[in-house]
Amino acid sequence: MKEVILVKLGEMVLKGQNKNAFETILIKNIRRRLSGLGDYKVEAAQSTIYITPENDFCDLDDAAEKVGKIFGIVAYTKACIVEKDLVKIQEAACDYLENDLLMAKTFKVESKRSDKKFAYSSPEISREVGGYILSKFHHLSVDVHNPDLTVRVEVREKDAYIHGDPKEGAGGIPVGTGGKAAILISGGIDSPVAAYMLARRGVQLTAIHFASPPYTSERAHDKVVRLLRKVRDYAGRMKMYTVEFTKVQEQIRDNCPEELATVLMRRFMMRVAEKVAKLEDCKALITGESLGQVASQTINAIACTDAVATMPVFRPLIGTDKAEIVKTARKIDTFDISIEPFEDCCTVFTPRHPRTKPTINVLEAAERKLDVEGLINECMENLEYIWIE
Ligand code: ATP
Ligand code: MG
Repeated sequence: MKEVILVKLGEMVLKGQNKNAFETILIKNIRRRLSGLGDYKVEAAQSTIYITPENDFCDLDDAAEKVGKIFGIVAYTKACIVEKDLVKIQEAACDYLENDLLMAKTFKVESKRSDKKFAYSSPEISREVGGYILSKFHHLSVDVHNPDLTVRVEVREKDAYIHGDPKEGAGGIPVGTGGKAAILISGGIDSPVAAYMLARRGVQLTAIHFASPPYTSERAHDKVVRLLRKVRDYAGRMKMYTVEFTKVQEQIRDNCPEELATVLMRRFMMRVAEKVAKLEDCKALITGESLGQVASQTINAIACTDAVATMPVFRPLIGTDKAEIVKTARKIDTFDISIEPFEDCCTVFTPRHPRTKPTINVLEAAERKLDVEGLINECMENLEYIWIE
């Protein structure tokens, strides 16, 4: 039986004249995600995208799993393609959905006919197909209000399609329609979730990770790469920059009051991240901060960090609880990696009693002991990147 994947577009259909541009980007994203899985034809018609395998080597379940992680899609389903003939539709419905029909106790048929030349109206199709299913599966009864299974028949221009209940898509809007931004990624739970959330709003990501060898290890770095691969399943391919941050941290440790170390370090992170972001034409920074979670995430500390940034800094988790963040981390499959116990450059130099209410004056005074420009330039000179694809 010939199958396709039918994809329903998300809120982008509301966007008036941007609709076509969004649809074009979504189709491109789908093609790119499916490349390597076989040859598929991807095309749009009437607010639906059709993903059709071009040969027998395509595994539609693999493709569907990928499609479930592409932003801009509210719902998707595998469907079988049938000739537009009522008897064939009846038989195909029983065949194609046999397992689902055996599992269900109640069902209904919903039909849509965009080909008005088809001899039966939508209610007639539903009645005929429903009656036929009842004659084949004696345990079933019809429930139009709350069925276990809805059998859907769509009679379109070229063919008819039959499928069961569609799966929920990843939502959001297609990556690439929302500009570019740089995610500051640690090995923690929060920043991969923050990355996912902004990608969901159409933002194309560049990742920036600060490492402090030898205090942080190669394995800590590898952990971040593995986290980004999980994020990539949703956000698409991205560059990951690694900034060698050791000297900055040592200089802060050796020359500045310990209680200010974290916020001083974060101000350096912002400054360097902005420079890296500009290399990639990113227009904003993203962090995984959540208000009050740690000393560097009080309003005062955040104000001091933001004071050195000229780009907008997006903090999608700012008003969320840890439990909510963990829920999303589990959903996108980053949680188990995040809790692996590797050191992060932030934790290596954590002060015993961090100041929760730093002021900009005090921080600027501390920074006068440092060669701020020189340290930033050194970070930029030692910059490295890899592609996460
Ligand atoms: P996470 O779970 O993301 O590590 P956290 O609660 O541990 O967050 P912090 O360590 O204070 O919080 O870091 C706050 C944010 O700063 C992170 O979410 C991330 O965006 C950024 N950040 C922290 N450490 C690094 C790092 N080594 N490289 C890049 N960004 C970092
Ligand atoms: Mg962290």
